[in-house]
Amino acid sequence: MAIRDLTSERLFVDADLAAGNRVELEPAQAHYLTAVLRLKLGARLLVFNGRNGEWVATLSETHKRGGALTIESEVRPQESGPDVDYLFAPLKRSRLDYMVQKATEMGVARLRPVITERTIAERVNSERMQANVIEAAEQCGVLRVPEVQAPVRLDDVLDTWDASRHILFCDEHGENDPIATLQKLEPGPLAVLVGPEGGFSPRERERLIGKTFVTPLSLGPRIMRADTAAVAVLALVNATLGDWRRD
Ligand code: SAH
Repeated sequence: MAIRDLTSERLFVDADLAAGNRVELEPAQAHYLTAVLRLKLGARLLVFNGRNGEWVATLSETHKRGGALTIESEVRPQESGPDVDYLFAPLKRSRLDYMVQKATEMGVARLRPVITERTIAERVNSERMQANVIEAAEQCGVLRVPEVQAPVRLDDVLDTWDASRHILFCDEHGENDPIATLQKLEPGPLAVLVGPEGGFSPRERERLIGKTFVTPLSLGPRIMRADTAAVAVLALVNATLGDWRRD
């Protein structure tokens, strides 16, 4: 892997990135750069938008209500990442924040909240999820920013599922060896499913296990917190089927 610049400030912007482009800063972004980071005019930082790779930019304008950047040169080309959808029962606030950030760092393509029978969170704050995705991407230099989808009930997900994408269902009552199970799978579009604080109901587990496009996956003999299970399963998937492999 090329040596990465992990020291420069990194900012997510929506605008297209090309040499010479002027990018208007939102007031909150301008405040962060000038008041929090105390960057001065001419300061350099890294910017990305999830489409055009990572670019060096300079702070070229600052004024009361905002500012602007001038885009200089590309330093990293746009990256792809594993074609893995992360399906999860929304958790309570801080644990959901953590889980969304970790799934982003682990390189998932899409974040798909799934409402299960024992899901505690009443409503899912998609804006908050998006903010956590951006924060993790800025901190860790993730260029393929995962898409945040709207919550869907588990039964509806299964009724409308595209069977060309295989679901790895993290089954807290399973007993199969995870590595052996994963190594039997054909590489291809994948989804990972992690349940809520109260686990899956017997009905949900039975329904999932009955689907040909679902493989139950045990993550060992101890029941982990859902946010821990997220990191564990995404590490296993990246290492056996994803882009941690060094062929
Ligand atoms: N009560 C705990 C754990 C709930 S289990 C909590 O408060 O979080 C939450 C989800 O994590 C399960 O539905 C399952 O998808 C996953 N999980 C946890 N431990 C697991 C294990 N040993 N094997 C497979 N999945 C596991």
